[in-house]
Amino acid sequence: MTRPLSPVHVIGAGLAGSEAAWQVARRGMPVVLHEMRPARSTAVHKTGQFAELVCSNSFRSDDAAVSAIGLLHAEMRQLGSLVMRAADAHKLPAGGALAVDREGFAAAITAALEAEPLVDIRREEVVAPPAEWDSVIIATGPLTSPALADSIGGLTGEAALAFFDAIAPIVHRETIDFDIAWFQSRYDKAGPAGSGADYINCPLTRAQYDAFVDALLAGDKIEFRDFETATPYFDGCLPIEVMAERGRETLRHGPMKPFGLTDPHQSGTKPYAVVQLRQDNKLGSLFNMVGFQTKLKHGEQVRIFRTIPGLARAEFARLGGLHRNTFLNSPKLLDATLRLKAAPRLRFAGQITGCEGYVESAAIGLLAGSFAAAERRGEEPLLPPPTTAHGALLGHITGGHVEIIDSGPRSFQPMNVNFGLFPPLAHGAARDSRKAALCARALADLDAWRGAGVPHAAE
Ligand SMILES: Cc1cc2nc3c(=O)[nH]c(=O)nc-3n(C[C@H](O)[C@H](O)[C@H](O)COP(=O)(O)OP(=O)(O)OC[C@H]3O[C@@H](n4cnc5c(N)ncnc54)[C@H](O)[C@@H]3O)c2cc1C
Repeated sequence: MTRPLSPVHVIGAGLAGSEAAWQVARRGMPVVLHEMRPARSTAVHKTGQFAELVCSNSFRSDDAAVSAIGLLHAEMRQLGSLVMRAADAHKLPAGGALAVDREGFAAAITAALEAEPLVDIRREEVVAPPAEWDSVIIATGPLTSPALADSIGGLTGEAALAFFDAIAPIVHRETIDFDIAWFQSRYDKAGPAGSGADYINCPLTRAQYDAFVDALLAGDKIEFRDFETATPYFDGCLPIEVMAERGRETLRHGPMKPFGLTDPHQSGTKPYAVVQLRQDNKLGSLFNMVGFQTKLKHGEQVRIFRTIPGLARAEFARLGGLHRNTFLNSPKLLDATLRLKAAPRLRFAGQITGCEGYVESAAIGLLAGSFAAAERRGEEPLLPPPTTAHGALLGHITGGHVEIIDSGPRSFQPMNVNFGLFPPLAHGAARDSRKAALCARALADLDAWRGAGVPHAAE
């Protein structure tokens, strides 16, 4: 008689955990799904339903021909995603976006998992995964319960997992005007991993700096929520508008200091202030605005940051923000299949791994579930091609990010899927056809990957 397989334990039935549990079960493996709600809730969830959307009801653009998030939708549909099936069944009119009836959506996910014979649902908080659970997916999200966050902190050796994210905006390099901006490191210092010309510099005159400070002071800001007031700021990461409030010269002596930089476009003059951008991914397609964490509303950030010389046409891969978040320093801590290097029986999924957004979290849940199921069958998990949206996102989480090249806070921050994470096209393409070419390449490569025998969830 064959012994029954021991189950994969999934902790957290949010976007990622629900999808992960579904993927494991649809591949014929037993799952125990642990969810602490409704007995114990988080500061933002309101119901006991699985996959509750805590804020907006939008899954963003559904256009798989030119948008990275639309492409991710299309790939997930092909891979048998429960989250996409429920979203499609409960969609609402929203132009080119996929918006969902949040109650119908969450009820459909809950019902599907409750009806799945291989899923055993336990409504309980897990404070530490017991040693006898040999395959665990932790998908407890940005508001992981404090007790579990503590035990994860103990396992990873990280001092703090929950803090105010000091998120600085990230700009697509190709949208920066290099007739104005230039590459140079302060004092041309090469540093351990640099060349002496690692930063992109945008110069401001005194009048431009004054106008910029005025705009920051007057700009519309997001108020903190009650639960956020108890969480400390992450080391030295004050929002730029808070620094500006401390004095007109504070920014010029902080993140906008001009020292050690010479503008080659202005016959070698010294600018009054400088905004620096630092490489954010290995491909060198994305650059983050150094020290520009902010509570300004998103529309205000675009308006005000485009007044910076060189950034008039900047497109942002991510805008800045500050909110409480729990996530791992994944490029350092996780292996290529999302397992904790220090304890490989534990795999992570969802926003806790450093992706951002409902759909991205579910996509990483999908991968974690498929990897765990492959392992249970005694097979080597097959990674998605890096040219697909799944592969690009996974690459960002497990290795595509560059570590900081000078002293400062941890630089890995949650990110939405975007074309800056994709490897460049082999044969270039005009700017307006580039996105379509990246999408077409991704879908073709996903097909080939599936054709290569990669098992996907049965419909
Ligand atoms: C305030 C806020 C607003 C947001 N707004 C948006 C938005 O508008 N659009 C967007 O795309 N993304 C938004 N996000 C990001 C969004 O939360 C995530 O993208 C997504 O919900 C994360 O999915 P997840 O599965 O990783 O976590 P979640 O969906 O949060 O799921 C985690 C689950 O784990 C459970 N859990 C936690 N600890 C334990 C434990 N110890 N034991 C058992 N269960 C546990 C929780 O109850 C929850 O059900 C927002 C995040 C926050 C914090």
